[in-house]
This record gives sequence, structure tokens and C-alpha cells, in this order.
Amino acid sequence: MTAEPALPAARLMDGRPPARELLAETARRAAAFRAATGTPPTLATVLVGDDPASATYVRMKARRCEEVGIRSVRVELPRTAATAEVVAGVQRLAADPAVHGILVQHPVPAPVDRRAVFEAIPLGKDVDGVTSGTLGRIILGLPGFVPCTPEGIMRLLRAHGVELRGLEAVVLGRSPILGRPMASLLINAHATVTLCHSHTRDLPAVVRRADVLIAAVGRPRFVQGDWIKPGAVVVDAGYNPGNVGDVDFAGAAARAGMITPVPGGVGPMTIAVLLEHTVTAAEGAGPTAPRP
Ligand code: NAP
Repeated sequence: MTAEPALPAARLMDGRPPARELLAETARRAAAFRAATGTPPTLATVLVGDDPASATYVRMKARRCEEVGIRSVRVELPRTAATAEVVAGVQRLAADPAVHGILVQHPVPAPVDRRAVFEAIPLGKDVDGVTSGTLGRIILGLPGFVPCTPEGIMRLLRAHGVELRGLEAVVLGRSPILGRPMASLLINAHATVTLCHSHTRDLPAVVRRADVLIAAVGRPRFVQGDWIKPGAVVVDAGYNPGNVGDVDFAGAAARAGMITPVPGGVGPMTIAVLLEHTVTAAEGAGPTAPRP
């Protein structure tokens, strides 16, 4: 019987050091903007309903804003709010020159038409990358505020020296803010991409082809260790109750070449990107800035 070849112990792709760097740079830019204009960069957050997890996320984002010198404004609407009311709230923020970025906290409770609410955000203030206009620009490789988690993942891959050109990438999940833009960014970086979802046949076999796997399914420890190609780069975007990712970390780390921890991998990058986008929007250097 031949022994299994020794597998490399996975290197951790820690998201905290690159996130700290990005936050420090963002704080410097926020201070310069304030010094030049007399007003701080401002992020408005729209919270509809009383979901405790959403309220916690909004509070956490406000705290992070404060830490880097961004003013945060919170607009709260009741769970019973009609679509037109929520859209009107976003339109007021869109028209307010003192507001530079708008984030609608999801999930927006049904029966509000979430898409209609998102579409009320102008491109230049779409710092969370939720509008169809932004997604179209990303697919085409045009400037736009890339949704914060996929952009955070691309930066994390770069920070850890992953060269994507020519690699087989598998993205698990096709949501408009995560899986779909993620697949586009990987295509634009010259990877060969397979986008999987709940109708994909023989998912383990597809995942086993991945040199790079991005897991964004929203199911705790869904990806099993024996699905991982030896030496693969595994990015776990999942964030489930109990600080658990979408990948079975212990099993995957035994086969992967590199793997993100949960927490401390993708999460810190996501929030840092959101704050950077807000400052970029304030500087007027976002997707609607005139190009030379
Ligand atoms: P979502 O909108 O619920 O989308 C989940 C995707 O996974 C869908 O495309 C779904 O397929 C697919 N899926 C579900 N069950 C599946 C299965 N059994 N087999 C294959 N595919 C399956 O979730 P999301 O908003 O993209 O979030 C995904 C994860 O990322 C969650 O854990 C979330 O908490 C996390 N997240 C993390 C951050 C961060 O900062 N770290 C930010 C945002 C989200 P269908 O399309 O066919 O239904």
C-alpha cells in the first residue's frame, strides 16, 4: 500500500493586518477631506424593521465610522413601512449633499420591494454596491463601488500573493452582492470561473476542481474537507451564528494551501472597504467622477 503524500499545512489568510492598513489610510484621507472642506465624510445607513442582528451590524458600522473620522447618520423606518416610504427616505439622502454614501441594511423585510429601494441610490453614493448600475459596471470592468465583501476578498487574495491568472476558480453562491460580482471580478482577473448554486449537480466534484474556492452559501460548515483540492486557496465568506463559516475549517485546513479564518478573514476586509468607499465618494472620486 502506498502512503498518502504529505499535504502542506494550510497557511492562514489573516484579514486583520491588511484591514488595519486600509483603515489607517482611510482615516488619513478622511482627516484630509475634513481639513479641506470643514465637513467629515458621511455615511447614511437605512435600517428598516427591528431585526436585532441588523441593528447590531448598523451599530457596529457606526462605531467603525467614528474610529476613522467618518460621520454616520442613521435613518430608521418601521417594519410596516411601505416601499414608497423607504424609497422616499433613500431619495432624501440621495439629494442631500452632506451625505456621501448610502447603505441600506439587508435583509430589508418583506413586503418592501428591496430592488426598488436599492435602485433609488445614485451610483456615486452606492458605496455598498447594491444597484443594478453598479453590478453592470463591475461585469464590464468599469469603475464602480464593488460590493464590499467581493472587493475585500480580491484585496485579501492580493495581500497574500495569490496570482489568479489562469487558475480554476469556483464560487459557491450567486447572490447579487456576493457570488455574482465575485465571479465577475475573478473573470476580470483572468481566472476560469464556475459559479455554483443550489441547483448545481455533484457539487463536491465541481469544488474538487477549484484552485481557488470562494464559499458564500450561508450554511454553517457546508463545504467538507474532502471536497478541497490539495493545495487550494480557500476563502470562506460565510458568517453564520456562532462565528462559524461556510467551510468545515479543520477538514479544509488539512488539505488547503491557504485558508481564511472565520472570524478574522473576510469580515474585517469587508468593513474596511465600506469605509474606504465612503471616503472615495466624499472626495468625488467614485464611479461618476469625470475621467480624463
Ligand atoms: P444568500 O443571498 O442567501 O445566497 C446564498 C447562495 O448560496 C445562493 O445563491 C444559493 O443558491 C446558494 N446555496 C444555498 N444552499 C445551497 C446548496 N445547498 N448548494 C449550493 N448552493 C447553495 O447569501 P449571501 O448574502 O450571498 O451570503 C452568503 C454568506 O456570506 C452568508 O454566510 C453570509 O452571512 C455571508 N456574508 C458575509 C459577509 C462578510 O462580511 N463576511 C458579508 C455578506 C455576507 P440559489 O441561488 O440557487 O438559491
